[in-house]
Parts: sequence; C-alpha cells; structure tokens
Amino acid sequence: MTALHPVLAEHKGTWVGWAGGASETAPEPFDLEGIHIHPVPLTATDLERYYEGMSNATIWPLYHDAVETPVFKRRWRESYRQVNARFAEAAAEVAAEGATVWVQDYQLQLVPAMLRERRPDLKIGFFLHIPFPPIELFMQMPFRAEILRGLLGADLIGFQQRLAAQNFVRLARHLLGLRYEGQVIDVDGRPVKAGAFPISIDVAEMERMAADPAVQNRAKQIRAELGDPKTVILGVDRLDYTKGIELRLKAFRELLSDGKLSVPEAVMVQVATPSRERVEHYQTLRVKVEREVGRINGEFGRVGVPAVHYLHQSYSRTELAALYCAADVMMVTPLRDGMNLVAKEYVAARADTGGALVLSEFAGAATELRQSFLCNPHDPDGVKEALLRAVHVEHPEARRRMRLMQRHLRTHDVGHWARSFLNELGVPDVEVA
Ligand code: UDP
Repeated sequence: MTALHPVLAEHKGTWVGWAGGASETAPEPFDLEGIHIHPVPLTATDLERYYEGMSNATIWPLYHDAVETPVFKRRWRESYRQVNARFAEAAAEVAAEGATVWVQDYQLQLVPAMLRERRPDLKIGFFLHIPFPPIELFMQMPFRAEILRGLLGADLIGFQQRLAAQNFVRLARHLLGLRYEGQVIDVDGRPVKAGAFPISIDVAEMERMAADPAVQNRAKQIRAELGDPKTVILGVDRLDYTKGIELRLKAFRELLSDGKLSVPEAVMVQVATPSRERVEHYQTLRVKVEREVGRINGEFGRVGVPAVHYLHQSYSRTELAALYCAADVMMVTPLRDGMNLVAKEYVAARADTGGALVLSEFAGAATELRQSFLCNPHDPDGVKEALLRAVHVEHPEARRRMRLMQRHLRTHDVGHWARSFLNELGVPDVEVA
C-alpha cells in the first residue's frame, strides 16, 4: 500500500481492499490522504475458509516449495471463488472507462479473468508478491486450470524473479497448451506478458529514519541493554515456517556448542512477529521455535544474560530501524521467500557503518544483494560457516560490501518497481516518489 500510495494519489485512484475484521457489510467508501478507499467485507466464514484456509494453508505452502504440506479442502475453494468474485465486482463497479486495475497477490488470482469478463475495456495488471512454484508443484493444486486461467485474464503478470516468470509461461503451455514467444503468451489471440519486477523498499525513507538521532540513540541503548556485547546477531521475521528461524537458532546453538562463539560476547536477538495464529502449521512452529530458544538459553545463558533474546511481538518501523542499526550481523535465512524486504531494510539502514548480512540463496533478495554472505539454508554447516564469516569480517570489507549493495538499492527502490511495472503495462510517465 505504501508503495502504491503516490501512484494512486496522482491518478486519483481507488484502493479496493479488505475492510479488516469480520463483517457482513463493509463501511461506505471514503477518501483518505488523496485516495479513494473502497472497502470489501469478509465474513467470519470467509476468514476461516478463504483467508486462513485456501490462501494461507493451501496456496502459501504450495507456492513456497511445499516446505510444509499444503492442505486442500473443497469448501475452501468455493469460498476463494466467492471472495475473488466480490473483489472483481467491486473493482468493476468503481473503475472508469479504460482505466488500469492492478491486482495484488496470491489471495486474488481469479480476479483478473473475472474482471476482464465484466469489463473488457480495462487494462489489467497482476503482481505476485510470493514465489511462483515449478510446474511439478503447481500441478498438485486441485483447481489448477482455473487459477491459471484466472491469472491469464491480466495483460501483464509480474513476478519477483525471472525464474518464476519462466515457470509460469511454461506452465501455460503444459496445462492449457498455450503458445508463447519469449515471455508473451498467446491467449486466444490476446497477448499476455509475464515478467520479473523485483519489489523493493522506500530506500530514502529507511536511510532518513536510520540517520535520525533518536533512532541512533535508541540503537545505542539497545546495545547497552544487551550488555554491550561484541557481536549482536539479529533476526526479524513473521513467525512463519518459510523463514528458517529454527535452522538459524540451531546454527547459533551449534556454534556455541563448538566453542566458535560464546555468550556474552555474542548474543542473538530474534523478533518473531505473531502471524496467522489460527492456522495449525503456525501453532506447531511456535512450539518448536520456543522450545529451541529455551534449549539454547538453558544451556548457554546465565542469570541476567540470555543467549537468545526472543521477542514474539510486533515492532514499529522506527524500533526496527534502531534494531538494524544495533546489529553487527543480520540473519535472513528463509527456506523460500518471494523477496524478503527485511534484508533490504537492513542494508539501507546501515549508512556507512558496515554490518554484515547473512542471506539465504532461496530469498528473492539474493539475486540482487550479491555482496551478502550467501548460504544454502538446507545445509546446516553452510549456514554456520556463513554466520562465522559474517561475525569475523573486517570492518573495511564489511563497508565495501554494504556500499555496493546500497548503491544497487538506491536505483532499485520501490518507486522503480512500481514505475517499471506500470510502464510495461502501458501506463505512461508514472511519477512515483
Ligand atoms: N515488520 C514490521 N514490524 C515487525 C516485523 C516486520 O513492520 O515487527 C515489517 C518489516 O519492516 C518488513 C515487513 O514487515 O517491511 C516484512 O516483509 P518481508 O518481505 O521481510 O516478509 P513478509 O512478512 O512479507 O513475508
């Protein structure tokens, strides 16, 4: 939403989105900071079947390499259809003649086709924020052809990675026998383009925030509260099984056990923001992560000096900026992640101070942040080695790496992402701050 705010404001656009909470009816549309908000309601049953079920227990794990087993339920599918139709209806109602509609993410994959059917005059874009799976995995989806046709209702389908866009065009041939040339699929004579548009962050905003004296002071205070250790290792994630929180904790525990790291010289801070708490996968994960934290603290902590500071809480952007500034090493070790904005935020927050990023090769961000300490999260020894290299990197080398990554991010910020996508869709001269 933040990324799209300037585009919407300039074009007097409308945001069609979930009203939040569970209700039969949505509040009346209203204006907010120069854009028109059109709320769509979800009932308690929609939340359970469409949102927690189909979106977060079927599609989410399936699209993330099935690192947890996807759950398929027939009644969830029907609910997904109904809610997608509701969003398509709302967009069809508010869009002006010939307008551009940009549909966001995996919860709304049927909307492009539903919308085209109702409003063939519209220009329709779709962006998938999460990975798109290889054909073999996608083929597990019970209503796979319907999802694919839903997406193909768009004129342009954006993915985080080139590989994902390639998976998609090949899938269109494999499943529906459609022809493609390059990244353009021929859908009954209508060209549908697939492309990679890696999303990013508001780099200037993060740089400003991190330079703010209040944030700098807070960073110093955090280090003091941690007992001024030599090395602060940080993780910031939603508590999600794709994020590799357990394997990161295990790597830390083994390094303590091997005597390669020790407390209190090195401590870990793990922010694990509560997420999707009514979905079973997430409840199991929480138990596992908290057991591992307990094990490490039990074995390696001392009175008043825990080895892992575990925070099952949600933090403001400024507190996160302070944590980024306070951390010598940031660990981002997902088993699979569409992008991972936290990795980009850490780099942008570091100004000229060095700091080291350990980054999984399976995060979309790894394509761009090549000067990080890359690792394969499936290889425990590889993760340990990357962490040790990051802990021991010399300051000038750390700064060199950070500068190169920062240079890349400044030219590839969120404005660049939105502009590239919309220009490709044929919306000219979009000014995005
Ligand atoms: N975030 C936040 N508060 C928290 C934890 C995370 O505001 O307590 C933000 C974080 O700054 C980032 C986003 O949530 O912008 C997470 O995005 P990411 O791509 O890393 O992961 P996702 O949660 O979308 O899978």
